[in-house]
Amino acid sequence: MPEHVMTIDGAAVVGEGSFPVIDPARGEAFGDAPECSADQLEEAMASAARAGGPWSGDESHRRAILAKAADALEAAVDEVAPVLTAEQGKPLAGARGEIASSARWLRYFADLDLDREIIRDDDSAVVEIVRRPLGVVAAITPWNFPLSMAAWKIAPALRAGNTVVLKPSPFTPLSSLAMGQVLASVLPAGVLNVVSGGDELGGRMTEHPAVRKISFTGSVATGKKVAAAAAPDLKRLTLELGGNDPAIVLDDADVDRVADRLFASAFANCGQVCIAVKRVYAPERLYGALVDALGERARATRVGDGREEGTQLGPINNRPQLERVLGLLGDATDHGARVVAGGHRLDRPGYFVEPTIVADVEDGVRLVDEEQFGPVLPVVAYRDLDEVTARANDTHFGLGGSVWSSDADRAEQVARRLECGTVWVNTHGALAPEQPFGGLKWSGVGVEHGLPGLFSYTEIQVVHRQKA
Ligand code: NAD
Repeated sequence: MPEHVMTIDGAAVVGEGSFPVIDPARGEAFGDAPECSADQLEEAMASAARAGGPWSGDESHRRAILAKAADALEAAVDEVAPVLTAEQGKPLAGARGEIASSARWLRYFADLDLDREIIRDDDSAVVEIVRRPLGVVAAITPWNFPLSMAAWKIAPALRAGNTVVLKPSPFTPLSSLAMGQVLASVLPAGVLNVVSGGDELGGRMTEHPAVRKISFTGSVATGKKVAAAAAPDLKRLTLELGGNDPAIVLDDADVDRVADRLFASAFANCGQVCIAVKRVYAPERLYGALVDALGERARATRVGDGREEGTQLGPINNRPQLERVLGLLGDATDHGARVVAGGHRLDRPGYFVEPTIVADVEDGVRLVDEEQFGPVLPVVAYRDLDEVTARANDTHFGLGGSVWSSDADRAEQVARRLECGTVWVNTHGALAPEQPFGGLKWSGVGVEHGLPGLFSYTEIQVVHRQKA
């Protein structure tokens, strides 16, 4: 059997063509992904549509199978984690953690008990809310957490009784293809199809008449195209898009403690996290100390190949993203910003950039205003709390934000003023399967996780039974 195959109607399928996948730690191709042809996409959609009837009929069966899917994925960690590291760049421990987390999501939705929703039961009528599956779901994912982003969609979609056609990013297709094969060993044929191809394959999926819901994670620009493609058919939508999360440090914060956590959040997965801290606002009184503390942590971080023991930070995932991050850094220094630590690409093959702290930078500079999605963190000084919350909110993004203080109540008051889907106090980026997650403004439409996330894969039918 060829190494990397799609899963269509339960079968391992080779592409009619293929495209290379680059190892970002070496900057060269290490494998080929199948290119899904138009006919193969038709087969995937048809098999998902066929599988929907039987799959939607028996909820306890679905729950049992999802639990088995979680077990199967966990059991395949040694096989899948190296593929994820090779194509994404993240350290192996992070790849293993991502697989464990994906299994956790599958298990959460398998275990979730749902009560019947009887909203009226009196002498004259019984009225019940029934949540019906939508049908075929097109799931489209980005390259930063290919498996988690897929599991966040597959788990609730399947639990609710839908079937799925998943398309991973062309930068990181191989781990999702491997996961598709692992899950095919427990899922009925057609329930989960995994196809690979370029951006245009995503476009064809979003326009496909069999699809009743699109669940998309990626950039704002693509999210808008997806929404436009969904409109003629009134396909349902969940969009999880980009962010430019602010972290506001209050003047009573403990600099060392805060620096540890801010650094971890900003640089995890090499900064390629939708809810990474992407701009830090520090009060003038603490500014120098915080910038120094972040700089120390940046210099102490070991950058390298994710397969090497002790690597803390891998490469940026792909060349366009590398160029974008270096471009934003260059633009900031052109505008007078000071590089406190890092600032260079490593002199070795691959897309490595030193973890970089940028000081003396203001709103209005692209590095602060745009989503960098890489290992370069700007730290901006502020004087007045009202002014800084206004600056934090002065953006189309609205994914996450955090406030840091020795007085958590005071921090929470400020946090509640931030216009974003999740606000954290003295932490940043904490998520859980039961915790709804989504973006305000251009950062998204709808939420994933928890009951609201599950319900987004359903539509309501009201059953009203008259008694008398
Ligand atoms: P992207 O928008 O370029 O691509 C995402 C996916 O969409 C890929 O699979 C791509 O092939 C596909 N695609 C591209 N054009 C398409 C089209 N016209 N129709 C349908 N599909 C199409 O994003 P990316 O660069 O892979 O990912 C990085 C972005 O994802 C960042 O902005 C990041 O913040 C965001 N993100 C958001 C979340 C969240 O939960 N909010 C999580 C992770 C990443």
